[in-house]
Amino acid sequence: MAFEGLAERLQGSMKKIKGKGKVSEQDVKEMMREVRLALLEADVNFKVVKQFVKDVRERAVEQEVMESLTPGQQVIKVVNEELTQLLGGEQSKLNTAQKPPTVVMMVGLQGAGKTTTTGKLALHLRKKHNRKPLMAAADIYRPAAIKQLETLGKQLNMPVFSMGDQVSPVEIAQKAVEQAKEEHHDYVLIDTAGRLHVDENLMGELSDIKEATKPDEILLVVDSMTGQDAVNVAESFDEQLGITGVIMTKLDADTRGGAAISVKAVTGKPIKFAGMGEKSDALEPFHPERMASRILG
Ligand code: GDP
Repeated sequence: MAFEGLAERLQGSMKKIKGKGKVSEQDVKEMMREVRLALLEADVNFKVVKQFVKDVRERAVEQEVMESLTPGQQVIKVVNEELTQLLGGEQSKLNTAQKPPTVVMMVGLQGAGKTTTTGKLALHLRKKHNRKPLMAAADIYRPAAIKQLETLGKQLNMPVFSMGDQVSPVEIAQKAVEQAKEEHHDYVLIDTAGRLHVDENLMGELSDIKEATKPDEILLVVDSMTGQDAVNVAESFDEQLGITGVIMTKLDADTRGGAAISVKAVTGKPIKFAGMGEKSDALEPFHPERMASRILG
């Protein structure tokens, strides 16, 4: 389950203070020492942890909190609010084009879950928003990537645009957008190539696709299980390509959750969706507030 280990630790740290009718600065300090350790063990970026602890401590020892009728609960409320902020604050929705189709580039490293997530997002748009997406197969390098998307398309009864692997990804992306216009699709989801590492060739190609299709969204798909590596990948993609949001996959299997907690604070880019399983319907819009409440119990 997502954040299970972290949730248990944090809830344990806050237990003592929760019911207290009187809270001292020392109580807050002790609780935050444990919270700090729990976050670090969950692989949250250390700078993010430091700032978080500082912010909570400052707010938690304010007079209004300490002298309220239920100071223990007020302190917990502060932790909840600050964690919500850390996770992105308000829910961040998909950008949409003023004139359809909305062009979405799906980018990320191999194995992160990009192709699966492209299918999930298409299904989400159709099921929850009654949209008519077109998926485009622009990963011409990984053997069977095109086939994977086509198979997914068949399973979901979702159209897939492909031109094989002998045409440049830029051309595939452009033609996909043209076709989407002609056939009145309101979204085009371009499944781009991934590599094992962030490299110049990959970034060059993605920049060319960006230039050619002027996407409304560039969504980076990252594997939350890879912890701070996922955050570093997000930083690199954002610096070199510019991303508009993150989709955090495999959160269902990530008991630590360090990547999900750090990525917005480190990159400034919001998590828009979370992958919660292998099935095609296991994609959830990311709600910072709900996620914080889930973690803090
Ligand atoms: P790509 O190389 O980035 O296109 O990765 P794939 O889409 O082929 O996915 C790699 C693996 O991750 C597959 O086995 C997927 O089923 C799995 N996967 C993707 N998203 C999730 C998720 O949210 N949860 C879990 N448990 N597995 C996922």
